[in-house]
Amino acid sequence: MAFSGLALWADNVSERPSWVRGTWCVDGGVIRRVSDETEAPSVGVIVPGMVDTHCHIGYSETGSVSEDEMVEQARITLGSGVTVVRDCGVPVDNSPAARATGLHLIRCGRHVARPKRYMRDLPLDVDDQRELPAVLASMVHSSDGWVKIVGDWIDRSAGADSDLMPLWDPAVLTDAVAAVHEAGARIAVHAFSHRVIDSLIEAGVDDIEHGSGIDADQASEIAARGIAVTPTLRQVEIFKNFAAQAGAKYPVYAETMQGMYDARRAHFQMLVDSGVLLLMGTDSGGYQEHGTIAGELDLWLQWGAPAQLTIDAATWVSQRYLGYPGLVEGGPADFLILDEDPRDNPTILAKPVRVTVGGTSVWERPSA
Ligand SMILES: [Zn+2]
Repeated sequence: MAFSGLALWADNVSERPSWVRGTWCVDGGVIRRVSDETEAPSVGVIVPGMVDTHCHIGYSETGSVSEDEMVEQARITLGSGVTVVRDCGVPVDNSPAARATGLHLIRCGRHVARPKRYMRDLPLDVDDQRELPAVLASMVHSSDGWVKIVGDWIDRSAGADSDLMPLWDPAVLTDAVAAVHEAGARIAVHAFSHRVIDSLIEAGVDDIEHGSGIDADQASEIAARGIAVTPTLRQVEIFKNFAAQAGAKYPVYAETMQGMYDARRAHFQMLVDSGVLLLMGTDSGGYQEHGTIAGELDLWLQWGAPAQLTIDAATWVSQRYLGYPGLVEGGPADFLILDEDPRDNPTILAKPVRVTVGGTSVWERPSA
């Protein structure tokens, strides 16, 4: 199968991809550039598949779902232009969703939290926090090279003074991160608040999820240390709802959430300007529906990310961070065919004409 078009392409995995016109050939699940004399139909625009680095396949707003439903979630995700998902914690085995659909799924196992310090029934709770390193080391065996912990959450034991508070002592966190790295895995941490961030930087976590409390000094340290941040803007967009629900019962917490909501655009702009490695993630499966990456792309643009940075973050940057090469010579034929140039409107990435994984077409846009 040979085709021509405009592609976001790199000759090898250490090269930064650029936009090139050419002709490509897919054979044995691999993509290669061929000489332009080859007779090949023009398909439009060819881009690497998108990545959702924060997603919960197997979960929905109402809880864990059946195997049929998780397969459907994976199909919807593929149809939105996403070929790689890092699942950021679910209480069920969601591997059937990947097997049935071709979606690349990187599992994190279950969220690890402390009792009453996260959403009910979702995490694995650790009673004695000194057990965290051992719990995470064993979690590595039921995941795909990643684990996920809850770094902060409202601590309701303080009554009306309750606020977002770190779950873990800094020393425990440092030991836990070391145990995960020793087991050959990486660790992502849920973090809304400002006060948890220093302990995450010190402990050397790999990826901060949400990161809404990061200040400018912390951002430059995070950038310098190569820690990734998944800003999940659609999640930050609903902080105003969390604030309203907390209302009079937890006024301090409500003010914290409302403050981050009010500052959200300037905060995201600061992250972009700081050079932090930003990953694309939707948090689908909790408060967000599956297949909603178009809305996340839209918020990145609305809140001031340049179009090319948004395209890069959604595709090859997040792919390479998770161990996939993007669209490269001799690499896996995982790509999207688009009928418009995403540089004019990056949300087009989420409306592919066709989605190919490993050289096989896994999704095609229904004809109108
Ligand atoms: Zn999440």
